[in-house]
Amino acid sequence: MVALAPELQRNFAEILGPDGVLQDAAATAPYLTDWRKLYRGAAIAVLRPRNAAEVSKIVRLCAEHSIGIVPQGGNTGLVGGATPSAAGTEIVLSLARMNRIRAVDAENFTATVEAGAILQHVQEAAAAADRLFPLSLGAEGQCQIGGNISTNAGGIAVLRYGNMRELVLGLEVVLPSGEIWNGLRALRKDNTGYDLKQLFIGAEGTLGIVTAAVLKLFPKPVEKATAFVATPDPARALELLAACRAASGDNVTSFELLPRLAIDLALKHVPGSVDPLRTPSPWYLLIEMTATAPNAGLREALEKALEAALTNGLIADATIAESEAATRRLWHLREAVVEGQRLEGASIKHDIAVPVATVARFLEEAVREMIAAMPAVRPVPFGHLGDGNIHFNLMQPVGISGEAFLERGRALTTLVHDRVMALGGSISAEHGLGQLRRGEIARYKSATELALMRSLKAALDPRGIMNPGKVV
Ligand code: FAD
Ligand code: ZN
Repeated sequence: MVALAPELQRNFAEILGPDGVLQDAAATAPYLTDWRKLYRGAAIAVLRPRNAAEVSKIVRLCAEHSIGIVPQGGNTGLVGGATPSAAGTEIVLSLARMNRIRAVDAENFTATVEAGAILQHVQEAAAAADRLFPLSLGAEGQCQIGGNISTNAGGIAVLRYGNMRELVLGLEVVLPSGEIWNGLRALRKDNTGYDLKQLFIGAEGTLGIVTAAVLKLFPKPVEKATAFVATPDPARALELLAACRAASGDNVTSFELLPRLAIDLALKHVPGSVDPLRTPSPWYLLIEMTATAPNAGLREALEKALEAALTNGLIADATIAESEAATRRLWHLREAVVEGQRLEGASIKHDIAVPVATVARFLEEAVREMIAAMPAVRPVPFGHLGDGNIHFNLMQPVGISGEAFLERGRALTTLVHDRVMALGGSISAEHGLGQLRRGEIARYKSATELALMRSLKAALDPRGIMNPGKVV
């Protein structure tokens, strides 16, 4: 922790009250590293404002002294975007105390929430008003709406409801000048010029600080059908996706792909994991359909689609959850797939997207290329097949150290990303660029696109104080 000049310290304490400024090592430590512990930073202080006016005052002060500001939500991001640099010249601005759900308007199908509201609390508030806020991801008990907005989070229901970009109607943002932009509109239609809120969605805190948002709500689903399916390969899985969408009245909410190794690692490391099917298969799908009308016939639709798929050889086996407990077990396994990999050892993660129709080709070619480059590597590609978004993870080989693997594996990332780009894909589907991928975009984005991004950054943040060293 770098000593804070006494005058600044006084100013921050005046704005935030003494408990709004954290400086001692123990209190600040959790804010200075990321969820995966890949990055370790330092900061002048961690500031915890209570409202947008306080954020505005902090930003003005930082602008005056050219101090970099690192916004931080639930700190579950996977690309180091919320971790300050090691130089110790920035402040971390935590939104955790701005966590109120201001209003749920069931009739307007909207919720107005502060940026620090925990995603799960927003889901619960919507449910209490007989509505659905559909964003759902493994970190939902900890991540915040402001973080979700700033990373344009995806998750397990994008196929049906879109990613965060599609779930935001309005924003309140503190700009790098300290001005507060009140764009908290609850409108479905608004064509009065540039759609400014979109600039801040997915900006990873580099253009301003999101302090509140108006979110879209949906009717609450009352019927659900969930299946776990063994499929010989992703190409056939994609045929099944089309069949399920048609059979259910386009009510497929989740369509998640899991390879056998992911299941094995979950069973090995995570208590409560159960293998849902008897005979092993190279690939599995977790499929969920939901409907907002009772007696929508989802189960019958799912059963029929799976029966036809069995006959056509699209799948080898399937089980449909018979109870809420059985459904929970399937989703527990889906989450355990992430935890199982963490507990097995080091892995190199790629969060890629390709056009849905090319996922099968990508997987076949990329896995082959990885094995050719490092025969003992263990690919664990899993994720949101319905969105063309695969978490193309490479697990450390048995018998070499995690560090040695991460060192040698760096070249593999370039191979994976070059292949993704050759298919018209993206090197970050839902996690963002942060500091992890920042250096790579020069290779993958055109000079024109990069120049456009830089001119936006320069226009909004001419002093470069917003989350320095991230994204651009
Ligand atoms: P943080 O990590 O605190 O910050 C993320 C970025 O946003 C940083 O650049 C930060 O500076 C910026 N930021 C945060 N708050 C603000 C604000 N108010 N204003 C401006 N900038 C801000 N992500 C997915 O998309 N889909 C998944 O399925 C998914 N699953 C996950 C599962 C697990 C177990 C974990 C640990 C993570 C997962 N993630 C997933 C990644 C992560 O949860 C998301 O990126 C989430 O949106 C981050 O929210 P956060 O509040 O933790 O943000
Ligand atoms: Zn994901």
